[in-house]
Amino acid sequence: MTRRLTRNMVAAYLREIGIDYVLVPPRAGGETAAAEAPATAGGETLEEIRREILACRRCALCSGRSNVVFGVGNPRARLMFVGEGPGEEEDRQGEPFVGAAGRRLTQWIHRIGLARQDVYIANIVKCRPPGNRAPLPEEAAACLPYLRRQIRAIRPEVICTLGAVALNFLLGNNDRITRVRGQWRDLDGIPLLPTYHPAYILRNATREHEVLADFDLLAERIRSG
Ligand code: SF4
Repeated sequence: MTRRLTRNMVAAYLREIGIDYVLVPPRAGGETAAAEAPATAGGETLEEIRREILACRRCALCSGRSNVVFGVGNPRARLMFVGEGPGEEEDRQGEPFVGAAGRRLTQWIHRIGLARQDVYIANIVKCRPPGNRAPLPEEAAACLPYLRRQIRAIRPEVICTLGAVALNFLLGNNDRITRVRGQWRDLDGIPLLPTYHPAYILRNATREHEVLADFDLLAERIRSG
């Protein structure tokens, strides 16, 4: 009798022979370009949201931007990362997490068997705050509706916030990241895991093992999904 192997059975076997992570493919139909994003149940695509943001002047951050940093990755990603806002390099290139911190984030993504183009990466605010300061509450409030629409369009299975600012603005709380990292939260029915921002880890390398543990949790969650 032929027995059909489930994904969990394959994962268990690979772990047994010493392979820690199993490549978790994006959902079928994924593309890296937002322009290819499929319409959601509500009919809105990432490209429609992007076109609207390009002309946005809802808050004062618009005056200092070189580029709107919309977001990047697979519009059907199962895993979505949310940071706080673009830095200098991101503002210059128009893409989130492309500097040293971005390279560290990419390493963590690779470690769980995924590539950057498998996931989706966005920020709380889409325009660079001056001097790389954190977004002000009024700036975050003005920009958050865009992020919520991106989340609705992508419908990720899991969200990971990077740093306290992203966590606090997205969930509307004052939780300290050192207390709650690695603990699952809920965002409108989507499991959300807070971890440290890669820029913080670049300055505090001794805490990287905590992020790696959090990424293990992300991998486990996706694997069992
Ligand atoms: S930060 Fe967001 S709300 Fe403010 S101008 Fe840029 S896109 Fe608009």
